[in-house]
Amino acid sequence: MSEQSVIKAKVMIDMVNKNPIEDGAVIFEDGLITLSGNYEKIKDKIRSDATIYDYKDSVLIPGMVDCHTHHNGFGDGRSGDSIGEIEDDILTIKSAKNAKTSLYSGVTTIRENGPKNTTMMKLRDAVNQGLAIAPRMVLCGRPIAIIGGHMGYFGGEVTGPVESLALSRQLIKEGVDYFKITATGGSTATSFPLRPSFSQKELDAVTNEAKNYGLLTATHCLSMEGIDNSLNAGVDMIIHCNFDNNKGESKFNEKLAEKIAKKGAYVNPTLHVGRARLWSLTMGENPSLGGWENKRVSISSDRKNVLEARLDAAKLSLETKLDHCRKMIDMGLKVITGSDSSWGDYALGNTFHETELLVESGYSNYEGVKSVTINAAMALGLGDTVGSIEKGKSADFAILKNNPLDDIKNLSTVKEVFLMGQHIQRGSDESNKTYSQIKPEQL
Ligand SMILES: [Zn+2]
Repeated sequence: MSEQSVIKAKVMIDMVNKNPIEDGAVIFEDGLITLSGNYEKIKDKIRSDATIYDYKDSVLIPGMVDCHTHHNGFGDGRSGDSIGEIEDDILTIKSAKNAKTSLYSGVTTIRENGPKNTTMMKLRDAVNQGLAIAPRMVLCGRPIAIIGGHMGYFGGEVTGPVESLALSRQLIKEGVDYFKITATGGSTATSFPLRPSFSQKELDAVTNEAKNYGLLTATHCLSMEGIDNSLNAGVDMIIHCNFDNNKGESKFNEKLAEKIAKKGAYVNPTLHVGRARLWSLTMGENPSLGGWENKRVSISSDRKNVLEARLDAAKLSLETKLDHCRKMIDMGLKVITGSDSSWGDYALGNTFHETELLVESGYSNYEGVKSVTINAAMALGLGDTVGSIEKGKSADFAILKNNPLDDIKNLSTVKEVFLMGQHIQRGSDESNKTYSQIKPEQL
């Protein structure tokens, strides 16, 4: 008979029942949940030899799901271009370090949004050989880009429908789980954020092949033409979703938002990566983030003080994005949490900051938790495996000191983590403080 484990908590937010369950408990065996509910109601199913974890003052939630991570990244403000210059071996080791941080922060599933070459595939191999620990990883191998396009330096540059199809097939051969495509330029110095990168035919070649193999697709879109082309190609998730025209004017476009709703695509607005930038600039840190920021600064101001101009651009961009996100949430679009850490200044281990801004944009605390658990799981095609505490799902849990339904920031009060039924040894509270990212005014 397999070993039985039980977690008891003061409150369980299972993401199945709308109301939290007082004195909640979950029973799991072989990494899978077998029963959950109020402790008194299920206690007769607990065997005498079961391992009991009693968190009587704490809150039990499903392990969090972050739809957008960059485990190759450093989160210290350096650009993607400079990460592209680092050797693959070093990036794999950095990713292993980051993966631990992600897991310790209560994130038990991640979707990686564009690492260099096969660095993350190598990390997965290492995890499978017992050499490293990491959250469950949904991998794209490397992003699909045009020559000089956003993230092309990570090894996936193509031209024309034939090469786009060829890279798609190569990625399938390498064992990827989904395709990430950069449908517009981005922070990459040689790219054009306000222009679509791929032609419709190139995009279609990738999404058709994805459909043939039952894979999902996601596109990086910093402007409206890229969003529109992506929707025409049947892309499943729009990342960033900036409503910019090709002159750099950012104005919410209800028609395009309606099209996103009609197509059923998920939206990952990536709000905190801009706020993290703002915090760094507030603290006087001033390295250039790359092409996107430089373009913004030159568009918005010709002032001599570059730091000030960057600060203004970052503030305006964050305000605009929050406003547009609010409108998308009001329209009922499927907006989920995807942190974009460790891109730019947003260090991994702080996924809750993105959820916090989705709540600021209009989600209730409960909807916020949904956006980083069950809804994020569904966006990744993992709705039957993770994202809620119910029979048959993976025993992935985060134990929180404080209730996120009282304050969404409490998602950061993680004290214990379980992945596939395994209790993760996170180290002392003191050591776990080292990855907590805080606002400048708290320094
Ligand atoms: Zn990203």
